Amino acid sequence: MTHVFHRHLRHAPKLAVAASGMTFRDAEGREYLDASGGAAVSSLGHGHPDVIAAMHAQIDKLAYAHTSFFTSEPAERLADELIRTAPQGMSHVYLVSGGSEAVEAALKMARQYFVEIGQPQRTHFIARRQSYHGNTLGALAVGGNAWRRAPFAPILVPATHVSPCYPYREQRVDETPEQYGRRLADELEAAILGQGPDSVIAFVAETVGGATAGVLTPVPGYFKAVREVCDRYGVLLILDEVMCGMGRTGTLYACEREGVVPDLATIAKGLGGGYQPIGAVLAQGKIVDAMSRGSGFFQHGHTYIGHPVACAAALAVQRVIHRDGLLAKVRSDGEAFGAMLREALGAHPNVGDIRGRGFFWGVELVSERASKAPFDPALNLHVRIKKEAMAQGLLCYPFGGTVDGKLGDHVLLAPPFIASRGDLREIAARLA
Ligand code: PMP
Repeated sequence: MTHVFHRHLRHAPKLAVAASGMTFRDAEGREYLDASGGAAVSSLGHGHPDVIAAMHAQIDKLAYAHTSFFTSEPAERLADELIRTAPQGMSHVYLVSGGSEAVEAALKMARQYFVEIGQPQRTHFIARRQSYHGNTLGALAVGGNAWRRAPFAPILVPATHVSPCYPYREQRVDETPEQYGRRLADELEAAILGQGPDSVIAFVAETVGGATAGVLTPVPGYFKAVREVCDRYGVLLILDEVMCGMGRTGTLYACEREGVVPDLATIAKGLGGGYQPIGAVLAQGKIVDAMSRGSGFFQHGHTYIGHPVACAAALAVQRVIHRDGLLAKVRSDGEAFGAMLREALGAHPNVGDIRGRGFFWGVELVSERASKAPFDPALNLHVRIKKEAMAQGLLCYPFGGTVDGKLGDHVLLAPPFIASRGDLREIAARLA
């Protein structure tokens, strides 16, 4: 019997004993090709020598320093590096230990910003359905999965959820992508007005939707229209790039492609590449200035913030991404990967949509292509796919069945950026 409190209480996971490059090995000696990087985490694959060397060097020198006493070289250098490559306007990096922590910190930063500038009446968040922002109470409140929120609903901060950008299901046939994006921005505006325009703190969205709806890439112009609406009412824009950021879609930040700069951006997962738990909030100067002119203190913090070894690992990940030209590789191999997926799966009667960008792809499953009807959630198809994929030596990230009872099943693919074209072909083939 295990004493680890596994999330799935009725079946313990397999025991992993080693991983190298693209491959995991379990205690029974079976090997698995990593097509999901965990949940879009392991961007450089496993056992990368440069990251391990950087961690070793740092742990020998200084393993831990509490931020109330010290900052550290790796923390300072990582923040400099992240701002050097961030969208114009970002000026500060608040380091945390993961994605939910980053979202939580961003929500509190946004709220405290309005308190500092004398608008304490702003108490409400607007976010999107079919989104995921984490499992802590603030992140859960803005997350768009009603099923996840349900047991905790009475104790969550107030948030309203609007439509995600989901062309496959929600763009009308008589509508161009631009018109669809505009319609969604109008819906956001209506939600802000409905709430009372001076009571909204922020609109929170994943730039490219990830874990809950199978990679939702925004239509062109959507985020520009959203940014305009937010600016009209002084509402902050928080973009959650925990999953889609750090090169996953072929640009370091996914919002670079959308031509918008958020007020706050969250990153994690690929930031540490799986080598260390680390996340961050990137903030525009005006937020930090308001706090430093006002109370001079961000009322937040965690014990492991800015952990030197985690920062050293994240710095090494950044160095490898740039040195090895991995963003360009993700863009070109990502297109090839999309073509491979379409070739291997496109004609399957139960594949409704294949969509993505870079090394971030989603396959949406339907029981019937014409009606786009999802499978009966009671079938638990995503669970069965995950199991069957593992039996075939493939790690992919399926989910579904439980969102609004109708969203259906998806498979998320987010391979490490080091995957060769041969690996990508093998992933498509095994999944098919
Ligand atoms: N935001 C997004 C977009 C995510 O995908 C996730 C994790 N799947 C989180 C936040 C939460 O991150 P973590 O699991 O590291 O707390």
